[in-house]
Amino acid sequence: MDNGRIVWGPHADHGFVLGTITDIGHNTITVQPTATNVKPITASYNQVFPAEPDTKKDADDNCSLMYLNEATLLHNLRLRYKKNKIYTYVANILIAVNPYQDVPSLYNQQQVKNYKGKSLGVQPPHCYAIADKAYRDMKVLSMSQSIIVSGESGAGKTENTKFVLRYLADNYGAGDDIDKRIVQANPILEAFGNAKTMRNNNSSRFGKFVEIHFVKGKVVGGFVSHYLLEKSRIVMQNSRERNYHIFYRLCCGAPDDVRTRLHLTTPDNFRYLRNGCTQYFLTDVEASKVKAFSNFPMQHKKKGSLNDILLNDYKDYERLLSSMKQIGISHQDMMDIFQVVAGVLHLGNITFEEAGGSSGGCMVSEESKTSVKITSDLLGLEANSLTEALTTRSMRSAGETNTINLFRVPLKQAQSSNAREALAKAIYSRLFDHVVSRINQCFPFKSSQGYIGILDIAGFEYFEVNSFEQFCINYCNEKLQQFFNERVLREEQELYAKEGLGVHEVTYADNQDCIDLIEASRVGILDILDEENKLPASSDNHFTSVVHSKHKNHFRISIPRKSQLSNHRNLRDDEGFLIRHFAGAVCYQTVQFVEKNNDALHNSLEQLVSSSRNKLVSQIFENSKTTSTKGKLGFISVGNKFKTQLGQLLEKLNNTGSSFIRCIKPNLSMQSSLFEGGQILSQLQCSGMVSVLDLMQGGFPSRAQFSVVYNMYKSIMPEKLKRLDPRLFCKALFKALGLDDNDFKFGLTKVFFRPGKFAEFDQLMRFDP
Ligand code: ADP
Ligand code: MG
Repeated sequence: MDNGRIVWGPHADHGFVLGTITDIGHNTITVQPTATNVKPITASYNQVFPAEPDTKKDADDNCSLMYLNEATLLHNLRLRYKKNKIYTYVANILIAVNPYQDVPSLYNQQQVKNYKGKSLGVQPPHCYAIADKAYRDMKVLSMSQSIIVSGESGAGKTENTKFVLRYLADNYGAGDDIDKRIVQANPILEAFGNAKTMRNNNSSRFGKFVEIHFVKGKVVGGFVSHYLLEKSRIVMQNSRERNYHIFYRLCCGAPDDVRTRLHLTTPDNFRYLRNGCTQYFLTDVEASKVKAFSNFPMQHKKKGSLNDILLNDYKDYERLLSSMKQIGISHQDMMDIFQVVAGVLHLGNITFEEAGGSSGGCMVSEESKTSVKITSDLLGLEANSLTEALTTRSMRSAGETNTINLFRVPLKQAQSSNAREALAKAIYSRLFDHVVSRINQCFPFKSSQGYIGILDIAGFEYFEVNSFEQFCINYCNEKLQQFFNERVLREEQELYAKEGLGVHEVTYADNQDCIDLIEASRVGILDILDEENKLPASSDNHFTSVVHSKHKNHFRISIPRKSQLSNHRNLRDDEGFLIRHFAGAVCYQTVQFVEKNNDALHNSLEQLVSSSRNKLVSQIFENSKTTSTKGKLGFISVGNKFKTQLGQLLEKLNNTGSSFIRCIKPNLSMQSSLFEGGQILSQLQCSGMVSVLDLMQGGFPSRAQFSVVYNMYKSIMPEKLKRLDPRLFCKALFKALGLDDNDFKFGLTKVFFRPGKFAEFDQLMRFDP
């Protein structure tokens, strides 16, 4: 770092800007940006990074750069993004920057063929190359593989997951239609589990791990596991977001006979839809495109008379139907499912009013009597029982002679509304479980020699207000980050050891303490929460106080601080906690933690639905009959169920080989060709990529098999050299070129290069053969 050197200096919007060092102080460096409109930057040493000699040149594999740091990575991504090269490697890790526009040339059938059987790096970076690597590793190593796709909402996880699935199905299907079914399962999952949000028009509100199983290298079946469907969305959405797609598809897209049978009208007529945005478009950009058709809803428009975006809900219904048909779900099964969906919508329209009199109770309001009738019909319930279950609660009291008396206590208006929402959430989330297991029946397999599993799960999140959902998701990301660290960093070191390179050990940030804070038995936050749930008078505040008292001097947790919550009122000590995650500190507001941690319905509701005349409804509540008898509170822990699921997932990941796709969202406004450096940089940091670069900078990130080097250059070598075996060939070649011994090392099968040195060597070969 000398005066006059070209460097990257930190910049809030762009991440980094290029400039020249003009002053070097004790603790800081001053950089004069090359761009004339940017003021001089003074920053600490560790925020200024050396730039590549040629700042116009991008690299497929970031490790071929000379300087591996966050600034050069960001710049490389920027250069490539401008050329529509959305994929970049950092060694074996794939970074995918969302193009926010269709790039058909990237994904056409020719491309699917291009990557078949090819090693990583032979073709330009692509998720297809990662898919093929997983496939070849599975075969060669006889070991199942997983592909972990991560990134924040809207970064492109689900799209990449679909491309990978389709790639494997197209190239390695057995010729029956199992592979097609695995691909067609996606639109169904998305219909029930995706919704329009501010961040993503098609946001997955659940996590999934999709396994494709193989026998003799051909697809034989699949299995989908799912995690944490967002339940609050069913009853309430942000005013600019929507409920799950399926609701609108039925209201707007279903043919008249179906809509009549299910009593469906426009979305504005349903409480569960009209609080959110009932239209298909949320952004002004979208809306401006459709000004001419401002009178919604869509079914009043004739098919074909509107442009494409307008028809989405309409068309998507047909697409959904055709997917369901293709994967082998019968028309009747489909209609049964739709009927329950409609039941949930009508249930939401039941409202309550004070009953008057001394009981303090409430009754179903006059105008929603029809909704009670329709809901009961659709869900196979007795209208009276439904009303009773919603407006009263059955309580037990011990009778005089060891008998137990059941009696009913009237509920207040707010309590009845709560009961209704709880019921709706329970029905829909169990229906979702059912849809997933129904899908799984469509690609069964008798035996499997191995699988490729693709994980598509929400990345680290923090919002202005963070609740139980974010807590669970971030807990999951701590576990996945630990897995990533161990895999990427450990594997790197194992490789050095295997090849006999004798490189010193690298240490990496350990987050076990944060994981323990959450999941340790008894003192972990999840167990403290479960204990709270079991108390007769549980409260979020009491839970929060216990958490603080058990972890007084824990580095990872502290009382909430106002500075962490812009725009939000200050929290009291017992209203939240702040956790220092690997990706940053998050302040959680604990109101509703206790409620959200309980998956059980109150007894009277439970009994109501499990004895439904509707087969599907009683089926989805079948196994809950047994659990509700356990404690009289009927508590089913959401947190601990997730912990168990996560444990099983990690066990799978630990037993498979793994590849990583890190998805990056280029901007917050879903625009194509807009690269917001500052945003992107923080995603790279959160995903652990910056630590990987640190490791690589000190190691040997570029590597090539001797045979590959031999084949690459033999044609331009003299006959005598060509006769050597590949390893000797390389040695002789390097000697002849006078390469510096410090820049490379010979392993057993590969030659390893210091950062940027392989590219240098390649240049030498091209210009000076
Ligand atoms: P995530 O699952 O990470 O929340 P998605 O995969 O749903 O994000 O992507 C959000 C949106 O971004 C998609 O609906 C699509 O419009 C766009 N998108 C993402 N990846 C691509 C891609 N590779 N090509 C084209 N569009 C993409
Ligand atoms: Mg998604």
